[in-house]
Amino acid sequence: MMRLFNTASQQYQEFNPGHVVGLYTCGITPYDSAHLGHITTFMTYDLLQRRLEDLGHEVRLVRNITDVDDPIFKRATELGLDYTQLASEETASFQSVMELLHFRPAYAEPLASSYIDQMAAAVQKLLDVGVAYSLEDDIYFDVSSDPAFGTFSGFSERLQLAFMKRRGGDPARPGKRAPLDFLLWHGVTDPADPAVWESVVGRGRPGWHIECSVMAHELLGTPFDIHGGGDDLIFPHHECEVAQSKALGQPQLAKHWMHVAPLLYLGEKMSKSLGNLIFAKDLLDNHAPNVIRLALLRYHYRTGGEWQPEFLEEAAELHAGLQKALLTCSESAASELLESIRRALDDDLDTHQIYHALHNFAASAQPAVPDAKHYCSPAKTALNLLGLG
Ligand SMILES: [Zn+2]
Repeated sequence: MMRLFNTASQQYQEFNPGHVVGLYTCGITPYDSAHLGHITTFMTYDLLQRRLEDLGHEVRLVRNITDVDDPIFKRATELGLDYTQLASEETASFQSVMELLHFRPAYAEPLASSYIDQMAAAVQKLLDVGVAYSLEDDIYFDVSSDPAFGTFSGFSERLQLAFMKRRGGDPARPGKRAPLDFLLWHGVTDPADPAVWESVVGRGRPGWHIECSVMAHELLGTPFDIHGGGDDLIFPHHECEVAQSKALGQPQLAKHWMHVAPLLYLGEKMSKSLGNLIFAKDLLDNHAPNVIRLALLRYHYRTGGEWQPEFLEEAAELHAGLQKALLTCSESAASELLESIRRALDDDLDTHQIYHALHNFAASAQPAVPDAKHYCSPAKTALNLLGLG
């Protein structure tokens, strides 16, 4: 039986879904190249998807593309590009990185811009049920309408305010009923604004949080099985998703929440503003995809840690050892590897155990024996489970 840590309950829970597994992860905002932070986050769900498929499930992975968001408009203006061109170029480059790194295909990669009508309709419904209000041209969610607001993340009000300010919110905007009220719809009057839609709630564009609630509901229905994303999305993004989906008549958005801790570099979370990004394409220029995936197995998804470039050298050695072991392995070593990897994946994706098992298998390489390859098929299955095929 698989067990996963559920952010919502703060406990390990048995994960025993039906045949079809709905998995929604918040995807990229396509305004800059994919970096190691993105790869780490999405590799977590890729491992989960692979193990669920190994168990016979059909996994519907929805990884949205946030192509309606202020950072894209800002970056496009700096580059003198149309924002749709920037978004489609960066989306294509992200998708090619995912493919090069052997990510399992997504069931859907919805563009926020393709669901504007449904998002506007959701905002209208929130106005109709009395949990939203207008402020100048914008529309906000009234958090006082939901006594449970804040309990998903469990953060103190002081932390909620700090995170909201740091992560795209506007707690200090005058005229709001409460600082934690969040934007549902941004009304636009500036004729030069590049991203405007006519809608039932006026001219403008949706806020970030409502985008994910609507796309997840449209593509997976609610409650779906797992909602994922980086752990910096717990508040405000996912807290707001939970609140607005409930107000839209969906008592439970997701049954299970799974968040990925950041990979740090030079002591900080990788971010564009700090300039400590490691771009996927630079890594791929210098290292084989399998080596990059192996190096990332050194990190557990809930703890993250500091990126150590020397892990790539160790991974390259391990990779060579695995190739050698695959040519000469014994039946028992191959079966033991597959069992260990399945057991570790079922234990909240225990990548430390996986790395250990891979080392043991590489060390099991014997002098070449005729027909040894014949016995290695479970080991190949094990490596495929890790995307190392
Ligand atoms: Zn999201």
